[in-house]
Amino acid sequence: MGTGPTLAAVPTMRSPLHDAVGLKTAQALEKALGLRTCGDLLRHYPRRYVERGVLTPLTDLRDDEYVTVQAEVVSVNTRKIHPNRGSNRQRTLTEVVVTDGHGRLKLSFFNQVWRGKQLVPGQRGLFAGKVGSFRGQRQLVNPQTQLLDDNSAADDRLLTGLIPVYPAAAAAPSWTIAAAVRYALEQVDVEADPIPEEIRDRHGLLPLAQALRWVHVADTEEQTRRARKRLKWDEAFVMQTVLAQRRAATVAQPAMPRLRRSGGLLDAFDARLPFDLTAGQQQVSEQILDDIGREHPMHRLLQGEVGSGKTVVALRAMLAVVDAGGQAALLAPTEVLAQQHHRTVTSMLGQLAQAGELTGADVSTRVALLTGSQGAQARRRNLLEAASGEAGIVIGTHALLQENVQFADLGLVVVDEQHRFGVEQRDALRSKGDMPPHVLVMTATPIPRTVAMTVFGDLETSTLTELPSGRSPIQTNVVPLAEQPHWLERAWTRVREEVAQGRQAYVVCARIGSDAEEDAAPPVDDEQEKRKPAAAVVDVAPLLAQGPLAGLRLEVLHGQLPTDEKDDVMRRFVRGEIDVLVATTVVEVGVDVPNATVMVVLDADRFGVSQLHQLRGRIGRGQHPGLCLLVTEAAIGTPARERVDGVAATLDGFELARLDLEQRREGDVLGATQSGRRSSLKLLRLLQDEPIIVAAREEATSLVDEDPTLSSHDALVEAVRELLDTDRADYLEKA
Ligand code: ADP
Ligand code: MG
Repeated sequence: MGTGPTLAAVPTMRSPLHDAVGLKTAQALEKALGLRTCGDLLRHYPRRYVERGVLTPLTDLRDDEYVTVQAEVVSVNTRKIHPNRGSNRQRTLTEVVVTDGHGRLKLSFFNQVWRGKQLVPGQRGLFAGKVGSFRGQRQLVNPQTQLLDDNSAADDRLLTGLIPVYPAAAAAPSWTIAAAVRYALEQVDVEADPIPEEIRDRHGLLPLAQALRWVHVADTEEQTRRARKRLKWDEAFVMQTVLAQRRAATVAQPAMPRLRRSGGLLDAFDARLPFDLTAGQQQVSEQILDDIGREHPMHRLLQGEVGSGKTVVALRAMLAVVDAGGQAALLAPTEVLAQQHHRTVTSMLGQLAQAGELTGADVSTRVALLTGSQGAQARRRNLLEAASGEAGIVIGTHALLQENVQFADLGLVVVDEQHRFGVEQRDALRSKGDMPPHVLVMTATPIPRTVAMTVFGDLETSTLTELPSGRSPIQTNVVPLAEQPHWLERAWTRVREEVAQGRQAYVVCARIGSDAEEDAAPPVDDEQEKRKPAAAVVDVAPLLAQGPLAGLRLEVLHGQLPTDEKDDVMRRFVRGEIDVLVATTVVEVGVDVPNATVMVVLDADRFGVSQLHQLRGRIGRGQHPGLCLLVTEAAIGTPARERVDGVAATLDGFELARLDLEQRREGDVLGATQSGRRSSLKLLRLLQDEPIIVAAREEATSLVDEDPTLSSHDALVEAVRELLDTDRADYLEKA
């Protein structure tokens, strides 16, 4: 250990690490683990604890893992071995066998004869290194070693009841980290506590300083448990404070209230509607109409199962805004979906969308469409309709976000299928009005409650849980090529049977073509990297057309087709002029063709859980039952296969969302790992820690209500700033 602090000032959590530990240690910790500040070190929590004297099970060690084990020496044996090639220096090998009482592990030390004296039988110690195999036997080569001998000269830093085991590296073994942490705990001032005392008292939380101490240096499990609970609270509470501040800022903004008017488009639309709204649709609609009548911008997330009828709800809100003299924009993630929304909305509105035409109704408006690749002339006309206010409703893709798109009076922005849109994009659209418009975000990916509270935590949430009546069930079967290769033939037979009955089919591939990766499903796990490439649309379509689906009207649809062609294919599919659509995930979101009843997903294991659920939502939308066939080569027991089996086992989107989350790390959910930065969530788990997240949200919300600028909570302000600095780009913005 080094010379201690170099400055007289007491280091804080933000001080560079070498203010609290020696320079050499600081450099080693930064190089090995990326720890730069005292806070980084004190928040480098142990992965687990081993009880002093309780030996680590040696049976479940895995090759290539860096491990720290507590074990007892059984035997020691030193012998001379051949010199290295080209050298005549004598070499020795000291082989030490250690045990956990059952299993054994070999430690091989080269040229360390003195180990024979140090590691006598019966001696216990900590051994750290990378697990390897030699002639079928597990071993550690030249492991780092720390004796656990109360009589030895060993320092007292290892003498607590529980020995912390840290995420470690060869350059910084667990006990070096433990020693540095202990030293830092003496030096660093951690008195400033981001969680106010009153809240700590209410929830039985330790003060920060105590928690940091016990998480690293503990005698009992109880101490580590309480420390961890408190530190999880930190993570939840600071994050919820940020979100509460965001919500408060939205509420403080002015917005134009769009009051409901009778005798307008909304009433005319309701009268035309060929079905009754479900109770859920009615209730959520009322809520939204209420929100947009207020003087502050609505900021609401509408989640609902695939096919639960979110579009109608959104359309009613848009019409109410048009009735009140404003305009509404509907933002879709893909051109296919924007075009489909345009078709659906214009056909649902009928004469109501034909303002200025002979056929137009008395009360009417226009619906404009803006996509990236539409022709210059169409684009100019639509831009004009948006800017003049002639078009009450403007539908489009990202193209709507461009600067040259102007509105006369934008009152409402609806974002469909949120998971493709980030906060920045919402903000860009919001800035298109004089006053911020109301915002409605829709997602068909059900989100576990706690994820909604964090990733979408700045939005109010509504949920549509029921499906409109008259829906047919979807049956999902796995076609496991590893075990049942001939089932694929049966899958194509089922497609032919459905088509013979007048229905339509989707065949979904993970890729477009051999070199067109753009629209392909991103890899969802590591193991698939090693396998052969997935079937591609452009390869599969001709094979099917000449083989098992010969004679059927078959077309392809993917993201790289020209816009006109995409639109044309979709229109013909909607009209029933195409039997089989071979497509990429462009059909994943929102595509609504009730006559399509069967879907074959090739390489189903290449898709994520939510994605498969979305895809499956394309069928069973009419009165005929749907059949989804998930084709996979993944063998039973692999994570890939579990994912596919999981989707086949349930239609409950919320359950699948949980499965999805369990299979991924939280960091991925929050988008943090992509940037390679450490996630702000170290201990908190979005699924398991729901009670903490819920309670922290309540506390943070009322704290921000009382004291919006946190004027009397300096330590919290500091923690908020730190979270925003490290994580802004990662999760708040890219959510
Ligand atoms: P999603 O929530 O997946 O976006 P959509 O809005 O596309 O669902 O609706 C799916 C289908 O259900 C559409 O054809 C729509 O017209 C129809 N639909 C919506 N609400 C009802 C209802 N209350 N009764 C019957 N059909 C409905
Ligand atoms: Mg939809």
